[in-house]
Amino acid sequence: MKPETLDILRCPYCGGRLELVTSSYHRRDADGIHDGILGCHCCVFPVVAGIPILHLQAGPSAAREQIEAGRPDRALRAMFGLEDDRQAAHFEALAASDTATYRELVEALGLTFEGGYFLYRFSDPTYVVAHAVVRAVAGSVLRDGGRAIDVCGGSGHLTRLLVELSSQAPVLADLYFSKIWLARRFTAPGCEPVCCDGNAPLPFARGAFRYAMCSDAFQYIWTKRQFVGEMTRLIDDGKAGAVVINHTHNQHVWCPSHGQPLTPEGYRDLFETLEPRLFGETGLLADLVKGGPLDLARRDSAETLDAEPALTIVASRRPDVFALHRLAPPPSEARGEFRVNPLYVLESDADPVGFRLRFPSEDYEQEYGACRQYLPDRVAIDRASLAELASGRLPSGLFDLARRRVIVDLPRKYY
Ligand SMILES: [Zn+2]
Repeated sequence: MKPETLDILRCPYCGGRLELVTSSYHRRDADGIHDGILGCHCCVFPVVAGIPILHLQAGPSAAREQIEAGRPDRALRAMFGLEDDRQAAHFEALAASDTATYRELVEALGLTFEGGYFLYRFSDPTYVVAHAVVRAVAGSVLRDGGRAIDVCGGSGHLTRLLVELSSQAPVLADLYFSKIWLARRFTAPGCEPVCCDGNAPLPFARGAFRYAMCSDAFQYIWTKRQFVGEMTRLIDDGKAGAVVINHTHNQHVWCPSHGQPLTPEGYRDLFETLEPRLFGETGLLADLVKGGPLDLARRDSAETLDAEPALTIVASRRPDVFALHRLAPPPSEARGEFRVNPLYVLESDADPVGFRLRFPSEDYEQEYGACRQYLPDRVAIDRASLAELASGRLPSGLFDLARRRVIVDLPRKYY
């Protein structure tokens, strides 16, 4: 972790500043603190592999004891939950390899992130809508500087976008150490990961950020009122920032991964000092499918919101947020690697090459089937274009397929 990150970290329980306990075992590297113990007025927290762990569950407590004993390797195993020595050795060998992929490391950890659907994350409708909303809102409020935080950001799929928009390294906060460790390595290089509990006060100073978001997780937070109060506190930097909650389920509409959602009125009532606007995701997705603009000036009616399976909440005092936002064109140079969307399987190995859309399971199709609105059943791509894609450039002939997410710009070594 960067030494200056200590300036924005606060203990979630006493609110005090955190300092490296130099009398305990610690290790520094080029990035700052690699392993060590942070202390405040009330307790101590470990830093493992450059990630501060600011909650007091069982894993962190074991990790802290290992750091104090001068065993950062065992602390790391504790945080990954690797109890079996053989599994741990296999994971560590992979982690030390430059060629290991995100997918291989997820599998070696025995994890099933996002129900195992992380591979398809960059084109699922939830992500596509959230990505456009984040680009529009964060792009507006961070135009003149300011920092972003992605709370409950998991393995950093949206944090990846914040890396481009935040003037200082965006913070990725999540309860799960493995996810943010993977994010820093693969999905969102350049982010500053912090391990913390969304059901506790957030471990950051007031006004440390101008943009705070939580995507696809809010329905699983029990302490929703505290969480919104905390998000609002984080962006209280004297400028008009924004709090964004993407994809939170609606109590009125049942879904398989329901969590403990509120009704639209319930969500509105959580905000005391900022007035939120709620959007149905169906309308936002329709804007994107037709090529934009994304209309955040719309006012969805109570009837519309009540019937929506998932809602987007945007709270800000900036009028330029609640406007029409032109969609950014696909990048002509890959940030990671251009690949044909992994939802497509090879159908014909001629020239052009034929691909067919195939869902990994019925469950996937049930949850994310709305992607059929932009992913065609079949596509054909000529070999010369595929070769150009592999070299990191988007041929102009594939622009529309990239816009429709048939071609995706994935993190390097994703799978
Ligand atoms: Zn404390």
